[in-house]
Amino acid sequence: MEYVIQGRNPASFFRFFEEISAIPRPSYHEERIADYLETFAKERGLYCYRDALHNVLIKKPATKGQEDRAPILFQGHTDMVCEKNHGVEHDFLKDPLKLWVDGDLLRAKGTTLGADDGIAVALMLAILDGAVESHPAVECLFTTAEEVGLNGAHGFDYSLLSARSMVNVDSEHLGTVTCGCAGGIRTDLTIPVRTEACTGTCLRLSVGGLMGGHSGENIHCGRANANKLMGRLLATLLPKCDARLISVEGGSKDNAIPRECVAMLAVPCFETASAALEAEAALIAHELSDEDHGFRVAVEEMDGEAVMMTAESTARVVGALAAVPNGVFKMNRKIDGLVEYSRNLGVVRTEGETVVLTFASRSGLESRLDASTRELDAFSRILNGETRHYNRYPGWEFAPRSVLRDAYVKAYREITGEDAIVNVIHAGLECGVIYSHIPDMDIISIAPTLHDLHSPDESLELASVEVFWNTIVRLLEIL
Ligand SMILES: [Zn+2]
Repeated sequence: MEYVIQGRNPASFFRFFEEISAIPRPSYHEERIADYLETFAKERGLYCYRDALHNVLIKKPATKGQEDRAPILFQGHTDMVCEKNHGVEHDFLKDPLKLWVDGDLLRAKGTTLGADDGIAVALMLAILDGAVESHPAVECLFTTAEEVGLNGAHGFDYSLLSARSMVNVDSEHLGTVTCGCAGGIRTDLTIPVRTEACTGTCLRLSVGGLMGGHSGENIHCGRANANKLMGRLLATLLPKCDARLISVEGGSKDNAIPRECVAMLAVPCFETASAALEAEAALIAHELSDEDHGFRVAVEEMDGEAVMMTAESTARVVGALAAVPNGVFKMNRKIDGLVEYSRNLGVVRTEGETVVLTFASRSGLESRLDASTRELDAFSRILNGETRHYNRYPGWEFAPRSVLRDAYVKAYREITGEDAIVNVIHAGLECGVIYSHIPDMDIISIAPTLHDLHSPDESLELASVEVFWNTIVRLLEIL
């Protein structure tokens, strides 16, 4: 094949990165990348295990003279988020990614780059291929369906691993070592509603222009939640007139802070309702942070609809949106600036005779996730609703002592002359799942520098890869 990246170190890493970029690997479609990994291992006579989920484990013995050292595990996921720009023709099930070098950045034309988590796959392949001169026995675990619920990591047989030091390569900043993450759970709260023939004037109320962001990493930034603002606007309106909900739709993902929400309403008088809504919107605009400066509320008169919710159903749905606790609940007492417990009302949907609210709750403590589910259960009983909790994943607790972390920080200082930042994140990683299976595993999560993950703007800083590689090589010498 023709290689796009020329004259960059380490050559082996970039060669493998380009090869795997030619293999389609959306979540749930990891069979071809698993085939590639199996062939790779077979050609080199390496131990290889593949399970029904297409997780692949490849082991490489220690280099000469290093046999007495403890083995080390590298881990990352083979699947990628598939997003493309409007108008771009790309079939993620068939087409290779079209890589291109944009100055010091590597990108894919019009699509996600899959550096999340292709960097891990390329790194492990380069190590397994023999690009590192001296290392202990290496185990490389390639997991699947990470982006859709850490499914591969949940289903792997961990008795196959002997290493008790693990490097997860699924972070996004070169100078940062992540050493802990939150667990989480999703909840659907379904509220049954009754409808009747529509009367009065119909209006469309839309909230938009908000900044949004990741519901773990950005939940403490003070950004407004469009679904919650809709709850507030409607709760302001109801005492002023007999407004009825026809439908409400907001947000697209449980783990994203919603930027937009639209409600269809029937009201006795359009002027009264829109005046009340616009007055409250002006008050909200005054409260919001600079990041949400794009905030806007639009009220438009619409054609009549067939049915609207009863007054009682409208009150229950509006009460749910307005009153459900949302955002940051607790900050970590030991680690400055780290969120300990949060919830995001990510999605609201009207589906037939129900309104469904979808939440992502996060915490570093399992007991708080339990508490969150019970709180939502209790809330749903008030609403005559039902809850379904799913996609639970465990957190990874910060270890006060870590030989691996110390060694990585030392290696990074030797290579760069700078101190790495040790942090804990309020988002989920496969490390939590693996830690729950092997509690004595010493884990770090690292990466070269990536930007705009999960979007067609995704890029990899080429120069950061060389520093990252040199740090790994040094780590393998001194650990
Ligand atoms: Zn990832």
